[in-house]
Amino acid sequence: MQTAVFHGERRVTLAEVPRPEPSAGEVLMRVRRTALCGSDTKPWIKGATVTPGHEIFGIVEQPGHRLHGQRSLVYIPVFCGQCSSCTIGDTHMCQSISLLMGWDKPGGYAEYLAVPEQCLLPVPDDIEDDLAPLLLDTIGTTAHAIRFVMRLAPPDDPGPVLVTGAGPVGLGGIIALQNLGYREIFVSDLKEERLALAESFGAKRHPVGEASRKFRLIVECSGAHAARSLGMEIVAPRGVLALVGENDNPWPVQENKAIRRKDFHMVRTFYFPVGDFAANIEWLRRDKTRYRRLVDARFGLAALPQMFARFAAGGLVKPMLAFD
Ligand SMILES: [Zn+2]
Ligand SMILES: [Zn+2]
Repeated sequence: MQTAVFHGERRVTLAEVPRPEPSAGEVLMRVRRTALCGSDTKPWIKGATVTPGHEIFGIVEQPGHRLHGQRSLVYIPVFCGQCSSCTIGDTHMCQSISLLMGWDKPGGYAEYLAVPEQCLLPVPDDIEDDLAPLLLDTIGTTAHAIRFVMRLAPPDDPGPVLVTGAGPVGLGGIIALQNLGYREIFVSDLKEERLALAESFGAKRHPVGEASRKFRLIVECSGAHAARSLGMEIVAPRGVLALVGENDNPWPVQENKAIRRKDFHMVRTFYFPVGDFAANIEWLRRDKTRYRRLVDARFGLAALPQMFARFAAGGLVKPMLAFD
């Protein structure tokens, strides 16, 4: 099969390798779509020992297996189903297995991968291939983040909310906030096209760096240190700053009066529990037109090196690697 190899220093090549051999409890999946994700700029720059790609949709190709032919997404965290987290439904925080698909185990920038059976999320036939991967990071992660903080910042309370970063996660966050009943949603981003898209989704612009308005809920999706630190300043008293974006670098914070002299919640969330999946399918089902606007490119594996560079430069929202 063909696979992408991430060498680091922004170099990606293709290689011919044997198809993976599924271990016990795993099935072989033929990949149909893998969405490019901003977090993959890490292996793009630093290199990876396994094939990256973690927003994977494909078809189980395991003749004789009960799941053969099943259209499925791949849930990133491998989980045991029995530990203290898994038994209360927190499959994304499994205490006994710490493996992520596309990070610790080979992912979806390849024609095939082996998938642990419990990580298969079956996708109904009315969800088209191009939209299916959005159910993971774009919808799943943001929906979970907002469901998690809802009790601290209920939708019906007065006051505006802010989404910082209008990439796929931020745009998914705007839709998630609306679906959960929030009104008066502001958005900040440096890129005009992304702001225009966010505006067409019903969010109002908030200038990057502007500190005069206070927000009762801030969903930080950029991962930028400046946005995180400013978020601590402009979150209203009793408000919530939810950190969803990722950043590997040290984050030094200069405390000031705006940060120190108030009570506020700062919350980190990660991915989503498998139990959320059915509800998220309903969201996608009734809002396909808007979600389709996030998928702005589709291309084959041969174009991945060039398309990844274009994506990393910020030129695309949610491009899909496609195997048709
Ligand atoms: Zn991702
Ligand atoms: Zn577990």
